Amino acid sequence: MSGLIRLTVPSIEEDDLQTVRETLASGFLVQGPRVKAFEDAVAAQVGTKHCVAVTNCTAALHLALQAIGVGPGDLVLVTTYSWITTANVIELCGAQPVFVDVDPRTFNMDPAALEARVASLSKLGETRRRLKAVLPVHTFGQMADVEALSSIADQAGVPLIEDAACALGATWNGKQAGSVGLAGAFSFHPRKAITTGEGGALTTNDDALARTLRALRNHGQDPTPEPGATDPFVMPGHNTRMTEMQGALGVTQMKKLARIVAARKRLAARYDERFRGTLVSPPHVPPASGHVYQSYVTMLPTEAAPHRGAVLAKLKARGIESTIGTWHMPLTQYFRTKYGYRAGDFPVTDAVFARALTLPLFESMTEAQVDEVAAAVLDVVAAL
Ligand SMILES: *Cc1c(COP(=O)(O)O)cnc(C)c1O
Repeated sequence: MSGLIRLTVPSIEEDDLQTVRETLASGFLVQGPRVKAFEDAVAAQVGTKHCVAVTNCTAALHLALQAIGVGPGDLVLVTTYSWITTANVIELCGAQPVFVDVDPRTFNMDPAALEARVASLSKLGETRRRLKAVLPVHTFGQMADVEALSSIADQAGVPLIEDAACALGATWNGKQAGSVGLAGAFSFHPRKAITTGEGGALTTNDDALARTLRALRNHGQDPTPEPGATDPFVMPGHNTRMTEMQGALGVTQMKKLARIVAARKRLAARYDERFRGTLVSPPHVPPASGHVYQSYVTMLPTEAAPHRGAVLAKLKARGIESTIGTWHMPLTQYFRTKYGYRAGDFPVTDAVFARALTLPLFESMTEAQVDEVAAAVLDVVAAL
């Protein structure tokens, strides 16, 4: 359809094309100096000592859990409302996700719900024995309340691992996403603010963890072998190395991060203005939060939730791409069947999942397009 307003359009420019071309011509194609330069740029942005680039954020989360020893029979406390990978990686380690409901306004893991879950596990005597980590998500580019969540994780004696897939540059009381927990995991998929096609990275200040992560991504080879070691293979590893083409693209993309985030904030503020005082609720941003708007997610009125499919279709007919927010993970086929979850188990997520509507947002979007989308949404909702 001509004139379709896409949900997202990556910001790929001449310098991005040029650097990939040069890299291909160099003949050096996997994990080398360009990946290292990209890691340095991400570490500088997040403010951590280490950054370990990998193939995607799913691999990043999987490696982080493996590196801290999550295995069969273990438990990981995780948010309910996210891209499915956040729960999948726990299962891939042979462990069990213990879901924690979200805050109805920020869609992030609710500290009070986390506290209640930890208390009920303690009562069962499970905390010490099986609990291995708390895994919150910085949903849609807005950080969870990491201060409250990390103090609860500390009390439970387990690390916080941040799923910061959407949140590069986001802050909570000035602290960067990916710098608060033991590790942070980022995605550079084209739906995120900057992209390397597929791509991911882990950030951490922990030297030993960084060394393990570097081994895990590269066939289990110790990046800094002990003197006298006969071979480098110290653990069973994956191959989740990034290519040099991705690393090179990451370097040029990182230079645009501040510019892209500024544009997204400006356009989000314009949407906010259009929706203020209407039936459609704009995203809620607590004072502590620096939101980077990986997605601009509104809430439809409760009565409109059963008609959300029709809203998506009507917007499509007007040349506007839109989608749901993200997934109610406990109610997806696998988790629902395996653990017997039902509607009502996570009431806040039930409502958020039913009402959320994601609208187009990308750096090159015009203010006129924002106005057009907002007017169309209000029109479609009013006509329900
Ligand atoms: C996109 C996303 C991921 C997965 O990232 P990939 O790089 O596609 O593997 C994980 N968690 C969240 C919250 C995401 O939005």
